Amino acid sequence: MTEENQETVSEQTQPQSTEQTTEKKYKLEHNRPDCIGCAACAAVAPDFWTMDEDGKSDIVGCKKRDDGWEELDIDEKNYAENRDAADSCPVNVIHITDKKTGEKII
Ligand code: SF4
Repeated sequence: MTEENQETVSEQTQPQSTEQTTEKKYKLEHNRPDCIGCAACAAVAPDFWTMDEDGKSDIVGCKKRDDGWEELDIDEKNYAENRDAADSCPVNVIHITDKKTGEKII
């Protein structure tokens, strides 16, 4: 219980007010305009990646941005699967950022 309280306090130091109870550690991003539709991501991580009718992939349940990119916040437990998807992408259009540090991991 103590650890949970410490984590909550730590999260509240971040300038985010809408996700206090569902804080996700990483931001998954897809540069969809530059996706070549090879389907590797959907093969590697089918719970998170799917192929659309236009031949490009989509992040399942993502937020679509005005610039054509897609993004989804993910938990630590879903990092490895999406890291594998990013590693499999031949044109490097899948990115993962650590939300707390701002570090672009890939
Ligand atoms: S692996 Fe990369 S290029 Fe291939 S469909 Fe997925 S995002 Fe697009």
